[in-house]
Amino acid sequence: MKGFILKLNRAKNEDMVVTILSEHTVDSYYRFYGARHSVLQLGYLIDFEVEQDKANFLPRIRSITHNGFQWLYNREKLMNWHRFISIFEPHFRDVKEIDSFYFYSLLDAAKKWEKQNSRRLIVETFTNILKYEGRINNLSKCVICGSKIENELSLIKGFMPAHPFCSHATAIDKNSIENLFATSSTLLLNDDTVELLSEIALKGF
Ligand SMILES: [Zn+2]
Repeated sequence: MKGFILKLNRAKNEDMVVTILSEHTVDSYYRFYGARHSVLQLGYLIDFEVEQDKANFLPRIRSITHNGFQWLYNREKLMNWHRFISIFEPHFRDVKEIDSFYFYSLLDAAKKWEKQNSRRLIVETFTNILKYEGRINNLSKCVICGSKIENELSLIKGFMPAHPFCSHATAIDKNSIENLFATSSTLLLNDDTVELLSEIALKGF
């Protein structure tokens, strides 16, 4: 199987519990420590085999190989990847079976991460996932006070729209967000807006 490491928890001794998002599942596995084993890190894309051990409540993973990306050596890109991948574990905490859309969205982003701006990829991938889940909000109404939004708005967690004075958050031009939601592209957004939106996305779904 192939999957992204969403979370690593240290178990007894040097063993690990590894949560992996693969094509159809988000699942946790047990990994025994061995000196010859390669080091696992958050966000890695790995190939692995699953071994069901009857004595253990978690299946074990073995034969792990890491699919490296060039950007792993770029500190800022790696940090952004770590922060981005971290929002998926809470999103799927009570879910085991998932659509392949999530794996391929992450794979697509990971492949573009080297050449493209990682903050833009965070905003675009996050927007696409919200769309896929039918969670794109209508921008005409503030989710806090329920009244109409005119030309400026703020986005809060999950890209929900609110009045800047209701949310105490930075105001953004409404048209540019409408464009983002319609196209899933950050092309028309300046770097400051992208930075702002990526920080909102990184708060989670
Ligand atoms: Zn309001």
